[in-house]
Amino acid sequence: MTVRIGVIGTGAIGRDHARRINQVLGGATVVALSDLNRASAEAVKSDVAPDAAIFTTGEELIASPDVDAVLVTSWGATHEQYVLAAIAAGKPCFCEKPLATTADGAKRIVDAEVAHGKRLVQVGFMRRYDAGYVALKQFVDTKIGAPIMVHAAHRNPAVPEQYVTPMAIHDTMIHEIDVLRWLLNDDYVSARVLFPRSAARSHAKLRDPQIVILETAKGTIIDVEIFVNCHYGYDIQCEVVGEDGIASLPEPLAIQSRLGAKLQNDILTDWKDRFIASYDVELQDFINAAGKGTAAGPNSWDGYVAAITSDACVAAQEAEGAAVAINLPTRPALYN
Ligand code: NAP
Repeated sequence: MTVRIGVIGTGAIGRDHARRINQVLGGATVVALSDLNRASAEAVKSDVAPDAAIFTTGEELIASPDVDAVLVTSWGATHEQYVLAAIAAGKPCFCEKPLATTADGAKRIVDAEVAHGKRLVQVGFMRRYDAGYVALKQFVDTKIGAPIMVHAAHRNPAVPEQYVTPMAIHDTMIHEIDVLRWLLNDDYVSARVLFPRSAARSHAKLRDPQIVILETAKGTIIDVEIFVNCHYGYDIQCEVVGEDGIASLPEPLAIQSRLGAKLQNDILTDWKDRFIASYDVELQDFINAAGKGTAAGPNSWDGYVAAITSDACVAAQEAEGAAVAINLPTRPALYN
């Protein structure tokens, strides 16, 4: 069966996902596109999805009998309405992060999916599909004993002028929030944020860097350095300290050279390159499950927990070093 996919939002990531569905992956084809900016949908049609019909609204695309499954890759604030419409139509739906921009919005999606009674939603937390994180998880699960601490870092060379302090959580740390919980098989119970002096390359509305400290239900302490003006490169670090040893996320493949009296290897500078292969794996997983009328991978509950945790981290930014409790509701059986 070829899964007929409709893509809502044909900006950077929507275009790229349409390309990988039609040119890289198997089992699916893009049959429909929709974007507030029709010219953008038309450009994607002409470049990578020649057979796609263009719909004026996402709701019309979801309702089309020619669409079996939906990709929501529009602006974050629109995700909730489209995911809810896809669930109401009983169609599998891949939603880029965030699942919703508020915890209440994510809860409405969880409630709708639970009422539907079957998983339909996959959230775009692609790091769970990265070969490095998958290998790290296998190692942590089997080799180093119970995790005690995690030291992580998320460093960007620079960010746009409009990037402000809470975005360090909602746009940047959101990936660590999901992947570390998955890596440790654990849930968060509190968050604290510490601010060293701001880097000279930052600006008045962005306190950068910051250190987010998460405590888990099993008592693991996680520190995540977020430094989005680090200048030198795009660098993701993760080290898990266990009872018996330490495991670290592998560095991206890079040639090591001995040249001009220097021993060196390159560091990436563009975030798009760091997890490029994982997007293929995550979307193939979506296609495979959608072909069976369901969804796999990170679920609505994960999206909801990420939203609750993000809100707590932003509250912790404002609490100037004080701990903010993270209280999760009971997980519905659908997500066990
Ligand atoms: P983008 O380039 O700005 O694309 C967003 C697109 O959605 C734009 O074409 C926008 O149109 C369109 N749009 C806005 N409102 C819409 C609506 N109501 N219905 C249909 N289309 C609408 O942004 P992007 O970088 O592709 O990001 C899109 C989403 O993917 C964001 O939620 C982002 O967080 C997520 N993302 C995830 C990753 C990841 O690593 N997992 C990476 C990148 C992005 P206009 O231009 O007319 O506003």
